[in-house]
Amino acid sequence: MLYSTIADTYEKIEATTKRLEMTDLLVDLLKNTPKEIIDKVVYLTQGKIYPDFVKLEIGVAERLAIKALAKASGIKESEIEEDLKKTGDLGETAQKFMAKKKQVTFFQQPLTVQKVYETLDKMAKASGSGAVDLKTALLAGLLADATPKEAKYIMRTVTGNLRLGIADMTVLDALAIAYGGGKEARELVERAYNISSDLGRVAKAVAEKGLRGVKKFAVLVGEPIRPMLAERLSSPEEILEKLGGKCIAEYKYDGERIQIHKKNGDVTLFSRRLEDISSQYPDAIELVKKHVKAKEAILEAECVAIDADTGEMRPFQELMHRRRKYGIEEAMEEYPVSLFMFDALYVDGKDLTLELYPIRREALVKAIEESERVKTAKYIITSNPKELEKFFLEAIENGCEGLVCKSMAEDSVYQAGARGWLWIKYKRDYKSEMTDTVDLVIVGAFHGRGKRAGTYGALLLAAYNPESDTFETVTKCGTGFTDEDLAKLPEMMKKHVISHKHPRVNSMIEADVWFEPVVVIEVLGAEITLSPIHTCAMNAIRQGSGLAIRFPRFTGNYRLDKAAEDATTISEIVEMYQKQLKKIVES
Ligand code: ATP
Repeated sequence: MLYSTIADTYEKIEATTKRLEMTDLLVDLLKNTPKEIIDKVVYLTQGKIYPDFVKLEIGVAERLAIKALAKASGIKESEIEEDLKKTGDLGETAQKFMAKKKQVTFFQQPLTVQKVYETLDKMAKASGSGAVDLKTALLAGLLADATPKEAKYIMRTVTGNLRLGIADMTVLDALAIAYGGGKEARELVERAYNISSDLGRVAKAVAEKGLRGVKKFAVLVGEPIRPMLAERLSSPEEILEKLGGKCIAEYKYDGERIQIHKKNGDVTLFSRRLEDISSQYPDAIELVKKHVKAKEAILEAECVAIDADTGEMRPFQELMHRRRKYGIEEAMEEYPVSLFMFDALYVDGKDLTLELYPIRREALVKAIEESERVKTAKYIITSNPKELEKFFLEAIENGCEGLVCKSMAEDSVYQAGARGWLWIKYKRDYKSEMTDTVDLVIVGAFHGRGKRAGTYGALLLAAYNPESDTFETVTKCGTGFTDEDLAKLPEMMKKHVISHKHPRVNSMIEADVWFEPVVVIEVLGAEITLSPIHTCAMNAIRQGSGLAIRFPRFTGNYRLDKAAEDATTISEIVEMYQKQLKKIVES
């Protein structure tokens, strides 16, 4: 197949603004494409040479492209740069200069699609010290063989600027029409795409085998499945009604969604956008190798940053420190992660995407061996709105964003690539960001683990209620302490240790060690949220809820100048909560 056929179609597509016309042009192109290279043609029309999840890119920088064009056209780089300033499009500039080409080639072979694809492929795979020279030479060679129009599109492709605006869905429409026998094939073709994320593979299957090919399409370990997404509602009653009166409600962990692909010893991790992010999470890969018992599996999990010392979940932002190319080892140490598994899409030869959720969950439980760092998402099965609300508050209390409530009904399959009502998220809208520090009383402590063995892992802190003259717990704080602080805390608190909860302390949480309410420390939190287990301002905002400070950090200030009764009061915390909430609503 000649590359000029593709270039001609591109030109026509660029000229149209109508999606239907665009689809017709694509249908013609796909029908005229030999079946054995239809995958390549599909990738090329999207300005790529592989599906997105493959970690290879053509990746030609502007500098390199200019150099190659100068070489192929015999025009000076400075002249090309001048022209580029005017056009702003290397494709157009290339077309112009290749038309003016000084050294006319007498014996020019017409470019084939295969030749273009193979050359781009070589460019993508070039690596090491000679890569830049090799890429320049390959591109120059390709341009030299191209007509001016072909040069334009080659240049745009290699620099990542093809931008024909052909969406995945348009390609699926075109494939269904060209090879599936019409619109009715659309759903099957789309499903094939949703479970493979590979338009090229789908194109080949439908072109070579027709509908049979896409009907038999199965998930493959190594090819990411497009994620199922959730709708949103804001009350337990609505959620239960929508889900047929009963659901599996799971914690909505606040981390990064990860699709885990395991085959024999190899593990690949894909992001929500289906990029291969394995290199960012060597520790998560180790966890999978150790705790996923299945030989082959595709599982979904939320990867959450945790505090290495206390095992508590950390805010989503901390995971952002893991998005880096260098210094992965240090980031791993500083921001360790846990995996909370929430779906199984394939296990040991069985495609589970069309199984109902209770069955998939059972397969998930069987596929893994739970450990401290690898768990299945915490859940309840309920038909009771009150119970759902209680579980929601508990989830928030434990550092989650809320719940994902999932259908258990007869149609609860894994809807790859769709945002639907089989999953409904119930998120915390009631949160208020903190800007001020608070002074809180140390009323209890929890034993440390790991590096903190022998000292405290976290302190139980309380605000003061002047009306009842009691101290009401508002947070558990394990962050912000230096090694020096940690070493001196047990010593410093020794004289205040008592064998049971102090009568003036109001707590639903059982601490490992109790103190007289005497020592005050300064703390800065990220936000104030409703909480079912902290007693601060219980029932003041909502029945059955108190207020909690999330992600508290010790500022380093021991407020020795303050008596416990001078600590921040519960009404101040209520005020902070309301003031900040108002700000959020207004903005
Ligand atoms: P959000 O920003 O609310 O996470 P989203 O568009 O990324 O939205 P949604 O499908 O709307 O995704 O919400 C579900 C998301 O919640 C998933 O993408 C996943 O990352 C996360 N999540 C956390 N815990 C679970 C769970 N138990 N089940 C499903 N998804 C979960």
